[in-house]
Amino acid sequence: MAGRKGAGPWDPYTGADLGEGEWIEYSPAQKAGLDAPRFCPECGRRRVVQVTPHGWTAVCSRHGETDSAVADLR
Ligand SMILES: [Zn+2]
Repeated sequence: MAGRKGAGPWDPYTGADLGEGEWIEYSPAQKAGLDAPRFCPECGRRRVVQVTPHGWTAVCSRHGETDSAVADLR
């Protein structure tokens, strides 16, 4: 795995490969937590995002569902 691109972790908003040192500035909506994280931080796959009246859910085909209630624990 060493030196192989795609080691992760991945940025959940932009899909940038943080393990490879990529960095992308968040948009204002992303900084405010208003945008759903469309990428799985564990595998970098694009997740299926559904916006709900209470927030959002994001489903990774490999890692399952995350919702905004979980992400708002900070
Ligand atoms: Zn995943």
